[in-house]
Amino acid sequence: MSTTLTGAPVSPGRAADVVVTMPAPVPEPPEATVAESPSEIDAAVGRLTAASEAVTERLGALADAATGTAAEVLAVTAAMAADPTLAADAERRVRESRLTPERAVWDAANALAAQLEPLGPPLSERARDVRDVRDRLVAELTGVRPPGVPSPGHPFVLVAEDLAPADTATLDPESVVAVVTSGGGPTSHTAILARALGIPAVVAVRGADDLAEGETVVVDGGVGTVVRDPSAEQVEAARRAVRVERTFDGTGRTADGHRVELLANVADPEGAKAAVAAHAEGVGLFRTEFCFLGRDTEPSLDDQVAAYRGVLAEFAGRKVVVRTLDAGADKPLPFVTADDEPNPALGVRGLRTAVAHPEVLDRQLQAVADAAAAENADVWVMAPMVATTGEARAFAEACDKHGLARSGAMVEVPAAALRSRWVFEHATFGSIGTNDLTQYAMAADRMLGDLAELSTSWQPAVLELVRATCEGARANARPVGVCGEAAADAVLAPVLVGLGVTSLSMTPRALADVAAVLAEVTFARCRELAQVALEQPDAGAARDAVRRELAGVLEPLGL
Ligand code: PEP
Ligand code: MG
Repeated sequence: MSTTLTGAPVSPGRAADVVVTMPAPVPEPPEATVAESPSEIDAAVGRLTAASEAVTERLGALADAATGTAAEVLAVTAAMAADPTLAADAERRVRESRLTPERAVWDAANALAAQLEPLGPPLSERARDVRDVRDRLVAELTGVRPPGVPSPGHPFVLVAEDLAPADTATLDPESVVAVVTSGGGPTSHTAILARALGIPAVVAVRGADDLAEGETVVVDGGVGTVVRDPSAEQVEAARRAVRVERTFDGTGRTADGHRVELLANVADPEGAKAAVAAHAEGVGLFRTEFCFLGRDTEPSLDDQVAAYRGVLAEFAGRKVVVRTLDAGADKPLPFVTADDEPNPALGVRGLRTAVAHPEVLDRQLQAVADAAAAENADVWVMAPMVATTGEARAFAEACDKHGLARSGAMVEVPAAALRSRWVFEHATFGSIGTNDLTQYAMAADRMLGDLAELSTSWQPAVLELVRATCEGARANARPVGVCGEAAADAVLAPVLVGLGVTSLSMTPRALADVAAVLAEVTFARCRELAQVALEQPDAGAARDAVRRELAGVLEPLGL
C-alpha cells in the first residue's frame, strides 16, 4: 500500500528512484592514544598516510568527474587534502602525543582552521575546506560514511534534513533526480539551488527523516508530494513525465498577446551570462551584494564601477534593474550594520542603512551612474526594504542627484504595499520582493523549515498585498514586477499577472516554464485565476485550486 508524505513544493517536475540519504555529520573522535611501542606508533602513522592518500585520490576523481561549480569546489578540497601541512602536523601529534590517527587529524585540522579564521577572506574561507578534509579523513580512518552529497554511481533521490551551501554546490543534476528535505523553506538554499538546476524538489516534508536508504519513492516537485511504496504504474508514469526541455523565445506574453516581461535575477557577471543564454529579456533584479560581501571595508568607487560594468556589458540595449546594497539581516556587513541587533530581520537593513551611512549609498549610486554611462544597458535603480513614502521620496531624490532617472522601490514590507498609491508618487516603478514580503506579512522567518506552509507566496494574504501594490502603482501609471522566488513558480505566474504584475524576474532556469504556462492562458483567464486564489482560505487550498483550474495546461507541459 502506498502512502504519501507532503511538503512544500519548491521546484517542479516528477521523478521516481531510490532514496540515498545525506550522511550524518562525522562524529568527533575520542581523545584516545595508541600503545607506546614504536611499532604501534609507526602503524598509526601508516594508517594516517594511507587515509590521506585515499582521500586525496578520491577527491581528485570526484573533481574530474564533476562539472561547473561542483568541479571547482571539489578541486579546492582535493588541493587542500593534498597539501602536506595538515598531514605533517597530524603525524607529529601521533608521534609526540601518541594520539590515535583520527584524533591527531581532528586536532591538527582544528588548529589550522583556527589560524586561518582571523585572516579575513579569502583565507578565512579556507577554514571550511580544512574542516571538510578533516571530516573526510576521520571518516576514512573510522569507517563511517564520508560527508557531502553521496556518489553511489547511479541516479537517486537525495533525502536530507537540509542542504548547506557547500553541499548544494556539489549537487550533480545528472545523478540527483530529485531532492527531498525535512527542513528548509521555499526560500532556503536547497529550494533556490534546486530551481536553478531544474531538479524537482519538495522541502519541509513531514516524515522525510523516516525514509530509508534504498527504498523507491515518487517525488512530485510541482504539488509537493513524496509517495512511498509506489505502484509500478506510479513509477512508470513519473519516469515517463521526464521534463521536456523547453527554451524561452525571448518574449513573454499571454495566449492573447498581453506582454509580460520575463527577466532574470542575477548576482554577478557569470549569472548575467547564464541569463543571456536563457534569453532573458533583461535583468529584473541585479543583487549588488557580491561586490560588498566578505569585505571589512567598503569597495572603492572604481572597484564598484568595474563590478557593475561586468553585468551591464551583457545586456546592451536591454533593461537592467540594479538593486542598491541590501546589507543587514542575513547579509551583515561590518562597515554598515551592527552585529548586536536582537532582531536583525526587523533591524537596520536595506535602505535603512543609508540613514547612518548616506555616503555608502551615495558612492554606490555614483558607481551605478558611471557604469551606466560607460555601457549601453537601460539602467534602472531600486532600493530594498522601502517602508514609507518618505523613504521612497528620499531615494528618488538621491538617484536624481546622480542623474539616474529611473528610480524605484522594492515592495517587501507590507506597509509599502498598503501605501502603494503614495509610494508610487515618487518611485517610478516597483518590484515586489515576495521572499521578504511573505516573511513580514506572515511573521514567519523565511529560513525556518517548520514554517514552510506559512512562508509561501500562495498565502492569500500575500496575494492581497500584491494586488494592493499593483492597484496603487496603476493609479500612478507605474509598472510593477515581482522579483522574489514566487516569480519562478510557473503555476503562480498567471495569478501574479492577473493581480496586475507587469513583469516577472526569476532564476534563468525557470524562464522557459513560466513562459510556456503564460503562453497558454489569456489575460482574462489570468484575472479569473487570481480571483480563484484570493477566495481560498489558505495557501494549500489556493495552490490546489489554481492547479485544478490549470490541469489541462500543466499536464502536457509535465508541470
Ligand atoms: C525578496 O525579498 O523577495 C528579494 C527578492 O530580495 P532578497 O531575496 O535578496 O531579500
Ligand atoms: Mg528581500
